[in-house]
Amino acid sequence: MQMQNRLNSIIKKVRGYHPNPDINKLREAFEFANAMHEGQVRKSGEPYMTHPLEVMDIIAGLRLDVSSLVAGLLHDTVEDTDTTVEDLRDMFGEDVAFLVDGVTKLSKFSFNTREEAQAENIRKMIIAMSRDLRVILVKLADRLHNMRTLKYMSEEGQERISQETMDIYAPLAHRLGISWVKTELEDLSFRYLHADAYYEIAEKVASKKRQREMFIREVITILNDMLRENNIRAEVTGRPKNFWSIYRKMREQQIEFEQVFDILAFRILVPERVQCYEGLGLVHNLWKPIPGRFKDYIAIPKPNGYQSLHTSVIGPYQERIEIQIRTSNMHKVAEEGIAAHWLYKEGKAVPDRDDQKFAWLHRLMEEHQDHEDPREFLESVKIDLFHDEVYVFTPRGDVMSFPMGATPVDFAFAIHTEVGFHCSGAKVNGLMVPLKYQLQNGDIIEIITQKNQRPNKDWLAYVKTGRARTKIRHSVQKEQRDRSRELGRELLDKELNKRASTNVRAWERAGNLTKAAELCKFSSVDEMLAEIGYGKTQPETVIEKIYPSQARINATKNDNSESRLGQLWDKLVHRGKTGVVLDGIEDVMVQYAKCCNPVPGDEIVGFVTRGRGLSVHTRECARITHLERERQITVRWANEAKSNDAARRPVNVRVYCADKPGLLGSISNSFTQAGVNISQAQCITTEDSRAINTFEVLVNNLEQLKRAMKTIEKIKGVYKVERT
Ligand code: MN
Repeated sequence: MQMQNRLNSIIKKVRGYHPNPDINKLREAFEFANAMHEGQVRKSGEPYMTHPLEVMDIIAGLRLDVSSLVAGLLHDTVEDTDTTVEDLRDMFGEDVAFLVDGVTKLSKFSFNTREEAQAENIRKMIIAMSRDLRVILVKLADRLHNMRTLKYMSEEGQERISQETMDIYAPLAHRLGISWVKTELEDLSFRYLHADAYYEIAEKVASKKRQREMFIREVITILNDMLRENNIRAEVTGRPKNFWSIYRKMREQQIEFEQVFDILAFRILVPERVQCYEGLGLVHNLWKPIPGRFKDYIAIPKPNGYQSLHTSVIGPYQERIEIQIRTSNMHKVAEEGIAAHWLYKEGKAVPDRDDQKFAWLHRLMEEHQDHEDPREFLESVKIDLFHDEVYVFTPRGDVMSFPMGATPVDFAFAIHTEVGFHCSGAKVNGLMVPLKYQLQNGDIIEIITQKNQRPNKDWLAYVKTGRARTKIRHSVQKEQRDRSRELGRELLDKELNKRASTNVRAWERAGNLTKAAELCKFSSVDEMLAEIGYGKTQPETVIEKIYPSQARINATKNDNSESRLGQLWDKLVHRGKTGVVLDGIEDVMVQYAKCCNPVPGDEIVGFVTRGRGLSVHTRECARITHLERERQITVRWANEAKSNDAARRPVNVRVYCADKPGLLGSISNSFTQAGVNISQAQCITTEDSRAINTFEVLVNNLEQLKRAMKTIEKIKGVYKVERT
């Protein structure tokens, strides 16, 4: 009986917004659900059916269609009773069956499990949402009622469900623009997640309740009188802000409750848009506005469609108050969000592709295709869905929204992937800014592109959108993979040469590459080569798959017979401890560039050459400017390189001196004392009785070389010492 009364009052509520609801269908659904849930009770001890009824009431509050209301009544039948989706289809039609099925599937998702599973679930939810928003709205109603009755849950359950609500459902309600649901979900979760803080704030808000209520009445009266005098028909309301937003403010600004001034928020609803601005002028004329607090969301609506003017002023008694001014229509959108757009229209609610209000949803949908790793997707969704926004303009005057702290790089990727890839600089309001500049509201952004520009790893440190982050990461990874593959190919080539007197190309023709990849259980030849390039797989391992014993025999043979090739190789490439580290991988095969002859201690860069391994130059080397930037790779000296005699490096040193006996002896003596070996020397005497001595010496490191050169400089008769 009690439940019948409740049903009647909800039906009355539905009639309030729906012109001709199918009441019979609603009653049938109620009777069916009631029969199916017969005997079940909630944790509170109440009959289970109270829950679907209250969910229906919330759905009516969202002003949804009859199918959604029916789905609300039936939403737990498939999950908790013997009912099947087919049963529902037979009895209540395809639309209802689809909605209940969607809600049932969503209910199975847990957003607290492993990160990957959580990501996968959010992904499913977003896909479901883009098919039919009503699924999410019914689910939100279900969650809201569960939150309202959460006190009957175990403590562990309360915390888990509240966290999930705060992380997923409240932001979703916000994104969908349904502010009353968002606010209630936030305050309910807040109560269970930070009970102490919640009750402290609740108590403080309550402690001056009478005083505050008087103050609210006074402000409303002043505003009403002022507006009436100016012939503006308006509805003024006032209330304390919700607890969660007070708490968030305290936490973000690290202030005490007493310091949160604009705890009171007033709302002025007017009939016409132009009166919003008139009203604002009157308010600012009456009370002093606080600089920086005025926001015009009418001219620039939020992405969820929210429109309003916001300002904070110093009100009577010097108290700060927040005032929102909007039309009744804007208010409806603000409270009901997405629901306000289709109200009681029957049928599937698929957001229109061209509707700007749903642009974010489509963006998320398109983006999820880029993510192979669900964790990346999760990160991206969290960033895009749950952040505060800044609004900026394109040079053409289009408004775009970004998460707070976004940079020109984010902007570039939002315009087009190619613009992002080649973004080399940015102008904000006509002035050049660094790429890590943080976009400010109202900025006009212009992106400068260059054909040769590539996404930079450093950008990851400051981009804020999931889109930019994903694109940059993929590009960087691809570049690294390409480099490694090329390097791996060369390493394998050298090793084949040495061990089996063949090369990669011959292997390719003979099908050995594919065969080796299969035998080593790589998914492709490319993967195998990349793994060799990364240093994770040794070329020898791969070769031995094809030439199980021969490789070893040949290798020994090659090592013993000092073949010309072998000698050349040893001269060019130091195997084993080469002294150079490449992206954390030691033991890469390197060749030191002859143009600059780097020595441990020099600043160096590496280049992946075609067919000659990795070539290492000093950073100052004049030749590197002519080399392709894409082939450049970050390398540094290994820690032990400086004292490793096996990794000694030849350096040419030229000494200009007087042509006099004994001097050459002193010079070579200085080298020896510094621990430097001379491997070659050449002396030329000039006509003006000077000598130019060129030494090829072997050094361990830069300091050693410098020490030797300094000693030589001090020898009497030496004019100049230089490294060539
Ligand atoms: Mn439920």
